[in-house]
Amino acid sequence: MSLHDNGRIVMVERKRYECIVCGRKFPYGQGIIVSRAGITLTFHSKSCLTKFFKLFIENLDEKEFKKASRMVAEEFRKLRELKSKPKVI
Ligand SMILES: [Zn+2]
Repeated sequence: MSLHDNGRIVMVERKRYECIVCGRKFPYGQGIIVSRAGITLTFHSKSCLTKFFKLFIENLDEKEFKKASRMVAEEFRKLRELKSKPKVI
């Protein structure tokens, strides 16, 4: 969103993002924004993130994919263990 102020274009603080999958615009606070290594990926919804993710993993280097997916799966496994209270017999 931009406003004209004395002939100049002034960016309003409330930034709007554009979904890189479907092109839909969304305001800050909505959607999913991923920033890393100087790259920002913006998704207006989880379904667009899922579409992107499917293609993304197909394009990843196999070695890196294996390494990262094992690490992340292990991370969630640990979290599940922490959540489940130990059973007292
Ligand atoms: Zn989208």
